[in-house]
Amino acid sequence: MLAQLVAGATVRSLARRGKYLLVDCGAGSLILHLGMSGRLWVVKDGAAPTPHDHFDMVLENGTVVRLRDPRRFGLVLWQAGDPLAHPLLAEIGPEPLSVAFDGAALHAATRNRSAAIKHVLMDSHVVAGLGNIYANEALFRAGISPRTAARRLSRERCEVLAAKIRETLELAIGAGGSSLRDYVASDGMAGNFQSQFMVYDRAGEPCQRCGAVIRGVKQGQRSTFYCPRCQRR
Ligand SMILES: [Zn+2]
Repeated sequence: MLAQLVAGATVRSLARRGKYLLVDCGAGSLILHLGMSGRLWVVKDGAAPTPHDHFDMVLENGTVVRLRDPRRFGLVLWQAGDPLAHPLLAEIGPEPLSVAFDGAALHAATRNRSAAIKHVLMDSHVVAGLGNIYANEALFRAGISPRTAARRLSRERCEVLAAKIRETLELAIGAGGSSLRDYVASDGMAGNFQSQFMVYDRAGEPCQRCGAVIRGVKQGQRSTFYCPRCQRR
């Protein structure tokens, strides 16, 4: 049982891979995923858990780190030894903000992918943990239609796209993330990147760059938004 595996363990380090949070406990690691709406935070007022609270980590000094997930898409599991060996993590592609992710890597990863580039960017084997909002926004900033077949993108356009993915994520991190419904950071503060959206959730509104009407379509199960004039195939 999880509680017995981690009881008395010392947290040696915290790390992140894709959308997984890794708590190194020496003999193994806790792997946490916040799902769509999960939140991990330090309980300061000693509040008792509610029905949406699924996991408490009680530290030696009494501090409680709590996982709340109203929609229950998150997970907590234990991996003995190297957490990156877990099947969920072993095949994840390069981190988008690492030097391993660049135009050359994106170009190489898309050569045999005939699916639409938006769909391919959502595949964590190509790039780790790029969310739907940021894939939409990066494609707009790169001037690439989300419906372009991934393998048709030239090396030059892959360079631009990789750079715009990095730029978009850095802007979003600087703004504290995107708070569409109830997202808040671990300090309880809402993010503000939604005020900088160029296309996401703006179907029917004018493009801020050219005035054309932003379109919204479904790709796979996910919402895609794009400007038909600024973004070409
Ligand atoms: Zn436009």
